[in-house]
Parts: sequence; C-alpha cells; structure tokens
Amino acid sequence: MATTLLLHADADSFFASVVLRHRPELATVPVAVVAHVFVASANYPARDRGVRGGMLAQEAQRLCPELVLIDVPRDEVEEVSDRLFDIFGASARTVEPGSMEEAFLDVGTDDWQIAIEAARGLRARAARELGIPVSVGIGRTKLMAKLASRAAKPDGLHVIGLEEELRLRESLPITDVWGLGAKTVERLRLIGVARMGDIDRVPRDELQRVCGTTMARRLWRIRDATDDSVLHPIASRTTLTSEGTISGFNRRDWAPVELMEACIERVCRRAERAGLAATGITITLRGEASASDVVLKHRVADATADSSIWTEAMREPLASAPGSRLIGLRATLTGLVPVDRIEQTLF
Ligand SMILES: [Mg+2]
Repeated sequence: MATTLLLHADADSFFASVVLRHRPELATVPVAVVAHVFVASANYPARDRGVRGGMLAQEAQRLCPELVLIDVPRDEVEEVSDRLFDIFGASARTVEPGSMEEAFLDVGTDDWQIAIEAARGLRARAARELGIPVSVGIGRTKLMAKLASRAAKPDGLHVIGLEEELRLRESLPITDVWGLGAKTVERLRLIGVARMGDIDRVPRDELQRVCGTTMARRLWRIRDATDDSVLHPIASRTTLTSEGTISGFNRRDWAPVELMEACIERVCRRAERAGLAATGITITLRGEASASDVVLKHRVADATADSSIWTEAMREPLASAPGSRLIGLRATLTGLVPVDRIEQTLF
C-alpha cells in the first residue's frame, strides 16, 4: 500500500509546559495556567486530580486546594508557538496547523522507519531548543495519526501500524471520532452503534437519517479505510495573531487600551522577528455578552511592523466601539509580506 504516512505532533499541556520550563520545582506539583477566569491548561499532576482545561479556576481550586494557579504568559506562549512551527516546518514538506501547538505533518515518506526517525528528530529538537514535550503520533490517515498522538501522551511517540489500524476501524468507540456531538452519539447508541464496526449492521439510509449525510459518509470512509489523509497546508504565513484577556490570575485588570497595546506590540515583535510587515490589522473584541464579537479593521498603504503606527490607528476605533464590557481581544496582522520584498520607494 503506497501511501504517505502522516505525523500528528501535539505539545503536551502546552501552556503549563511553557510555564514549567523556568519553574522545574513545580513539575511534580499540580499546576494550572489560567486565562481570564478559566483553566487554559493543566499539567499531569493537576489532571490526576480532576483539573481540566475549560474549568473555572475557582472550581479547579475547590477540587484541588493545593493547585498552583499561574496567569497565562502570553508573550512566551506565542513565541514558543512560533518556534514550534519553525521546527514543524523544518521537519516536514507540508504542515497543516491545527492550533497554536499542534499540526499534521507530511514528512514525505511511506517508510515507517523513516517516519519514526523524523518524529524522533522533531521531539528531540522541541525538547532541546524549546524545553517542551511534544508527543507525536504516526498513522496512514489524519484520524489514525491523531489517535496515535493521543496514545503517545505524555511525552511519547506512538505508531498506529496496519494491524492496529485494522483493529481500530472495528473497535474504535464512536465517541473517539471527532465532530460527533453528544446528541448524535446518543442517537447512534439507541440504534446499537457504540463502536465503528457496529455501523455494518445498520442500513445505510438509517445511518444517514440518524447522523446526517456528511457524518454518515465520514463514518463509512473510516470503516473502509478511505478516510481523510490530505493535508491543507498554509503556503506561507499571511496573518499573525496575538490575544489576551482583561483580567488574569493574580494581576490587576488591564484597561482595554492597555490590552490592545500589549497584543499589538507582541504581534509586531513576532512579525519583525520573522522578517514580515503587514498592510492590515484586525482587532476582534470579545465582550461579556455572548453576542457576536466586534471586529475593527484598518489598512495602510505601506506595509509596516511598527507597533506605534497600528496602536495609534486603532485607539479611536477601540474607544468608540460598541458592545458589552470587554473580556479579551485579539490583534491580527494581515496581508503579511516579507520585508525584503517591499520595494523601497525613496525617490
Ligand atoms: Mg496539546
């Protein structure tokens, strides 16, 4: 079967790992990193105590009174993410980002041993250069690679070879197929589908009725081993984003304009380091009310990574933006171009 192998690389408890790099004494203690009032990431000792991402920080503390809570170090987290993607890019011919700390990688081989060597090399570089554990899974499709990286955690490498793949296509709990909502899972359970193999006994039109045409097709493809293995790379980075929240743990609340300045400064610094300049900026405001985000945009004629230009341009729009009390915001530089490709029109 000549098919390219895929890697799924995923940093373990990313935010917590970034913090623990400089606080080794906390490695064996339950630690949670907090964004706004929620747990963004918990290390394994904290997870053992039931602390989970997305939980209210207060609730986590009630569950585990000795929990050490640390505010998200945005600067550091975003910088480590950039460098992690540099390592991904150097390790693969194609990278499809999943989030700021995980990606699918095509290392251009159908040889399992070569793929394993690539995964080992990537993990070693992340450990040596960034000081963070990155688990890697290898499989023939995206689903298999992702299931493999999950099995690899913490700080490991796992390969789902042909034998295990065949077994999984029969025995995989339906709840492990991502994209299935709780209601659909329950409806599937009612028609006797708890594992992948169970769909063989369900008439095709019934499966479609229960979980919709698109999901039914996806399940059959998983069953037939023709599921998605195509990566959608980002040819070159055209945007960079930095985000933050008004309140954090153990620090005073920031004024909206302070938060905006901090995010713009961070994202400009990252652009500068990457040799990029932007022609646009988008500021997305997250309000307290769950209503839709407020989006502010601005463009300039000459690409720049000068944070003062962007901050000045956005000060007034921010001040007069509608919406409820601000919780957080995101600054995205758009239309990024390499600085050395910008024509110097001095005359
Ligand atoms: Mg992760």
